[in-house]
Amino acid sequence: MRPMPYLLALDEGTTSARAALYDASGRRVAMEAVPLASRYPQPGWVEQDPLDIWRAQHEAARLVLLRHGATASEVGALGITNQRETTLVWDRTTGQPVAPAIVWQCRRTASACAALAAGPAGDWIPARTGLVIDAYFSATKLRWILDHTPDAAARARDGELLFGTVDTWLVWKLTGGAVHATDISNASRTMLMDLASGAWDADLLDLFGIPLAMLPEIRPSGASFGVAQADHLGAEIPIAAVAGDQQAALAGQACFQAGLAKNTYGTGCFALLHTGARQPRSRHRLVATRAAALNHGPRFAIEGSTFVAGAAVQWLRDRLGLLASAAESEDAARSVPDTGGVFFVPAFVGLGAPYWDAEARGLIAGITAATSREHLIRAALESIAYQTAELIAAMEADAGARLSELRVDGGASVNDFLMQFQADILDRPIVRPADVETTASGAAYLAGAASGFWPGLATIESFWQVERRFEPAMPASRRDSLLSGWKDALHRARSSTAGRVPAG
Ligand code: ADP
Repeated sequence: MRPMPYLLALDEGTTSARAALYDASGRRVAMEAVPLASRYPQPGWVEQDPLDIWRAQHEAARLVLLRHGATASEVGALGITNQRETTLVWDRTTGQPVAPAIVWQCRRTASACAALAAGPAGDWIPARTGLVIDAYFSATKLRWILDHTPDAAARARDGELLFGTVDTWLVWKLTGGAVHATDISNASRTMLMDLASGAWDADLLDLFGIPLAMLPEIRPSGASFGVAQADHLGAEIPIAAVAGDQQAALAGQACFQAGLAKNTYGTGCFALLHTGARQPRSRHRLVATRAAALNHGPRFAIEGSTFVAGAAVQWLRDRLGLLASAAESEDAARSVPDTGGVFFVPAFVGLGAPYWDAEARGLIAGITAATSREHLIRAALESIAYQTAELIAAMEADAGARLSELRVDGGASVNDFLMQFQADILDRPIVRPADVETTASGAAYLAGAASGFWPGLATIESFWQVERRFEPAMPASRRDSLLSGWKDALHRARSSTAGRVPAG
C-alpha cells in the first residue's frame, strides 16, 4: 500500500473556516480559508447559521485539496479544531438545526449568569467546572435555546434533539450522523462537565435542566471520531483528533508538559499554561481547563484571556484613522523613545481575566500638548504587553512556579517591537516559532500522533522550530515604573462597583 502523504487540519474559527494540509515532515504545504458571517440581531447578541458553519468548513477542505492538486485518498487522517463554547442544537433524525448557533461572544445570557453567581451555585459551579460563571460558556446558551425555541424543551427530553459545540456538529456532519461526540478540551468549556472526572456532571445537568440524551459522548482529543464519508471530499478520511482552538494552539506550540505556556496575540489575547496531570485551582480568577490529551490520562491547563489586544490597533486604524495598516504600528512605535507618559487602557468591552470587570471602559491617560500620534500608537501596543504580563503573573501565582519562557503566536505576534517590549515587561524570554499557524498545526499534530501517522510526541516536538527569541533587556527600575503607571491608569478605568483584584 502506498503511504499516505498528507494530514488534513480543519480549523473552524469565528470569522473564517480554514483547512490546511501537512506533509509527513510536519510542514504545512497548503492552506485555504472561507469567510464565515456572524449576525448581530440585538446589541451584544452574536449568532451564526449552523449550515453556513458546515458549508464554509466543507468548502475550505475541498479547496485546499483541489488547489494543491491532492486527493482525499492521499490523506491519512484529519484533525478538527474549532471556535469553542459556541452552542448548536439540531434534530437527531433530519439533521436540521432548530435555532441559530449562539456564538461564544454572545452576551444574551449575562443576566442569567449574574443571578446564578449571586445564588448558592455561585461557589460550587466554579469549583466543579474550573470556570468563572459567565455567558461565554455553553450551558446558559443551551438553556436559552431550549427556552426560546417552540417545543424544544419537550423534544430534547424525548431524545429528539442533539446538542453540540462546533466540533461535534462538524464530526456529526462529516460522519453522516454516525458519530455524536466531542473531545475533553471542548467539553471542559461547556460548564456542564466535572473538570476532575471528565464526565458530564449530574448536578449541573439538573441545575440547567439539560437531558443527558442530547449530550455528545466525551472522548480524548486524540481518538477515533469515526470516518468522514466519501461523498464529502471524494474518499473516506478517518477523523483522528478534535481539540478546541486554544488547546490546539497549545499543542501546536509543542507545549505538552507542565510549565510550558503560550500566548496568542489576536483580536484579544489567550494565554494557556500547561499544568500536566495536576488539576489547577485558580485563586486569581483565571480558568482551569482540560488541555488536549492523547489517550494517556487527564491533562490540564490554566487559561486567561484579555478581550482587546490587536483590536486596539484595529481601533486606531479604523476609528481614528491613525494607521493605514496594523503592520505600520511597529515603525510608528519605534520612532519615539517612549509614550511620553501616555497609558492606553483598551477596556472597550470591560476587562477580562484577571479582573472580570464588565463595566470598566477604555481610557487614555497622561495626555499633554506634546502627545503625538506615535505616542498613542506606542501606548496601544504597550497595553497589549501590560495586559499579558498581568495574565502571566496571575498564572504563575496559581501555578506556584515561574515560567522560563513564553511561546507566542497570532496575528500581532509578528510585531517585533511588541515582542521585545513584552520580553522587557515580563522579564522573561519570548519565543516565536517559524509557523505561527499553531491552531491548525496543533490539530494536525494531535491527529498525526493519534493515528500513527507520526510515531509519537517526540516527533511532533521536533517539528516545532524557533524563528526568533526576544531576550529581556530593560532595567528593573524602568520596568517597575512603567508597570506602576499602567496599574494607575487601569485603576482609573475600572468601574466603581466591580470587585477589586485579589491580592497576590
Ligand atoms: P483573530 O484570529 O483574533 O481574528 P489574528 O490572529 O488574525 O486575529 O490577528 C489579527 C489582529 O492582530 C488584529 O486585531 C490586528 O489589528 C492585529 N495585528 C495584525 N498585524 C499586526 C501588527 N503587525 N502589529 C500589531 N497588531 C497587528
